[in-house]
Amino acid sequence: MVRVSTETAGVPAGTTPTVDWPDLPAKQQPSWDPTELAPVLAVLSAYPPLVFAGEADLLRQRMADVSRGRAFTLQGGDCAETLADVTGPNIRDRIKTILQMAVVLTYGAGMPIVKVGRMAGQFAKPRSSDTETRDGVTLPAYRGDMVNGFEFTPEARRHDPERLLRAYHASASTLNLVRGFTSGGFADLRSVHAWNKGFLQGPAQARYEEMARQIDRAVRFLEASGVAEAEEMRRVEFYSAHEALVLDYERPMVRRDHRTGLLYDTSSHFVWIGERTRDLDGAHIDFVSRIRNPIGIKLGPTADRDTVLRLMDKVDPEREPGRLTFITRMGASTVRDVLPALLTSLGDEAHHVSWVCDPMHGNTFTSPSGHKTRRFEDVVEEVRGFFAAHAEAGTHPGGIHVELTGNDVTECVGGVDPVALDDLGLRYETLCDPRLNHQQSLELSFVVAEMLEKGVR
Ligand code: PEP
Ligand code: MN
Repeated sequence: MVRVSTETAGVPAGTTPTVDWPDLPAKQQPSWDPTELAPVLAVLSAYPPLVFAGEADLLRQRMADVSRGRAFTLQGGDCAETLADVTGPNIRDRIKTILQMAVVLTYGAGMPIVKVGRMAGQFAKPRSSDTETRDGVTLPAYRGDMVNGFEFTPEARRHDPERLLRAYHASASTLNLVRGFTSGGFADLRSVHAWNKGFLQGPAQARYEEMARQIDRAVRFLEASGVAEAEEMRRVEFYSAHEALVLDYERPMVRRDHRTGLLYDTSSHFVWIGERTRDLDGAHIDFVSRIRNPIGIKLGPTADRDTVLRLMDKVDPEREPGRLTFITRMGASTVRDVLPALLTSLGDEAHHVSWVCDPMHGNTFTSPSGHKTRRFEDVVEEVRGFFAAHAEAGTHPGGIHVELTGNDVTECVGGVDPVALDDLGLRYETLCDPRLNHQQSLELSFVVAEMLEKGVR
């Protein structure tokens, strides 16, 4: 269990507990100057929490519904948020996109959609190499705005702990706006529906006409019966999530809930551990095993039964519904080979967790123009394979986890109004992985809604 130093006794509610985090190997960590880091950790530890324990508990209940097949989750946002892109219009358009997708998915699933933004903390990235070389010059790799800058200069690439504080403030202002947008009438079902009509006036019209007409009838029915006026139709529950990667950010954000004495990572409602840091004996899995937030773990195509069971034993020994979500990212060409076998090998254990499909990270390739990209068709194919695998294994396909933006970028190719390989340079803005643009995101929601409605084998 957590060892807490004696000086913690009597700490006022909401203050950071002194937790003796065990000294375990931690991959992908910044190499800061410890004398610069120490004051930053002290400041972060004293800052107010960004989310509350009760909110994380509610999300755990929602995820429990997902694990039982009574709800579906939509998790989406940037691969890497940047400090410069924390602007009103960007946050608004990303929320808008997720809300638009959620309405379509609600119709297809006939179930509540648990909405989770990959935002307000997604400022750090694992990298395959510690360094980057350009024209014979080698500098530290970009690790996300929480650690260093993207600009290829020694000053920008230096690991600067002050950036932890900037990431905290950027997350706080993002969450502030998100809370305003999702409770202040912006999320009104009728406006979201009207935005979707805009999408359907384009090339998507012919392809998605039938479902669009059905959704329109459903919304008109709600309006006619007066239900659309209800407060529930004007407000949505919206949660934040990011990869818990930089332990010098996550650990000081841990607070003890004064009601129960349990620890929560108050940097976000949901945190996940990535494919590269989910070592069973590493510091990341140990970290999430000690906090009460709902937890995600990414699983790539090499994940086997034994590893998955051991991860469950560490992070969710009680097999508590809603506690643990496996986010599978197998690749479109691999998912049908590996996922059914993995799910089947787990037997009953597979029913104790939620299963979410990340159709992005197994489908990245480099275009002839040198852009890191993904094909919309591969993204759809992986989701299809995910649904088929769960149908075969008798488990619940619980949701999708996608990299998206509300902007009209050209980072992924394909879609009904296709971005061509030659278009990638037009508006390629991501500093890390390619995101679905606004149109491609909405289209994905229609395709997934069809899968939810009709089933996939
Ligand atoms: C990510 O979600 O951006 C990521 C790095 O994913 P993974 O850990 O699955 O590679
Ligand atoms: Mn990514």
